[in-house]
Amino acid sequence: MIEGLTFQTPALLPDQPLISFVVPVYNEEECVGHFAAAIATVIAESWSDGGPPPHFEIVFVDDGSRDATAAVVRAMCMLDHRIKLVSLSRNFGKEAALSAGLKAATGDAVIPMDVDLQDPPELIRPMVDLWRNGAQIVNAKRIDRRQDTFFKRATSRLFYKTINAIADHPIAVDVGDFRLLDRSAVAVLNEMTERCRFNKGLFSWIGFRTETVEYARPMRRTGYTKWRLSRLVALALDGITSSTTLPLRVWTMIGAITSILALGYAAFLLAYTIISGVDTPGYASIMVAVLFLGGLNLFSLGLMGEYVGRISMQVRGRPLYIVAETIGF
Ligand code: UDP
Ligand code: MG
Repeated sequence: MIEGLTFQTPALLPDQPLISFVVPVYNEEECVGHFAAAIATVIAESWSDGGPPPHFEIVFVDDGSRDATAAVVRAMCMLDHRIKLVSLSRNFGKEAALSAGLKAATGDAVIPMDVDLQDPPELIRPMVDLWRNGAQIVNAKRIDRRQDTFFKRATSRLFYKTINAIADHPIAVDVGDFRLLDRSAVAVLNEMTERCRFNKGLFSWIGFRTETVEYARPMRRTGYTKWRLSRLVALALDGITSSTTLPLRVWTMIGAITSILALGYAAFLLAYTIISGVDTPGYASIMVAVLFLGGLNLFSLGLMGEYVGRISMQVRGRPLYIVAETIGF
């Protein structure tokens, strides 16, 4: 039996809104049960003071797990019709899995959440209340990241600073994927055709009436983190290249300035040679110039490559993810 699954289905109250929790999961067999139980408990407790609780569904998106995650969720679907499963055909990464879940969710409001309970379910009530008062997006902002490692905090601060200094449209600082999205916002997101998904950027870009709730990020409750450094770097690059073309334009400026300086230097050398003749061959200065400009060239080429690679992905037009199976819809 699955530990922690002790809830039953309440009688349906037709006039209550439906909240969808979209939960990407990758090798999380020990977390999914705890998560569903925690949601059911918190919803019941948060609304125990009066008004009826909203209906909810939990859409688990199995991102090609190699452990028993899919099997565990499938069993949970049998026990409780509010639990649903979208299985992807392989590991497509969290951004793609989240997109698959947003598409599958049927609720009036959708809340993407991590399965490890690092997104505190206690925030659901305040978020839903703000939504019922007219907000279309409710961001959950981390005001205390002491539980993250120093390295993760430092790199994430650097990332938000950089991207918000150069992006065409700023993204909300310290707001993860955990936020409430009204159906109207989800409909817009589902229409977007970008292949290189950076959901945090898209969520901020679409606008809508936005409110914020704040929280301190707790530790991962069970399991272990699935993010490797290389994946975080890839995500950051996706974020920057999909939010701005400024890094491309900068190179036009740097190239122009370097050429002008080089011309000035050439003029100086010419005058110098005419006035005081040829002195020792400038081997060192030439090497420095060649290496410096070569480095700049390689860097700017690489930068072009980042954008061109993404253009070719977009042109190829392959789907973001492939759904192998759905249960409960
Ligand atoms: N996840 C996923 N696919 C991946 C990596 C992660 O669906 O390729 C899910 C994971 O199961 C979890 C969420 O994304 O529900 C956040 O992952 P994690 O807690 O490992 O990230 P962290 O909180 O350390 O940033
Ligand atoms: Mg986590």
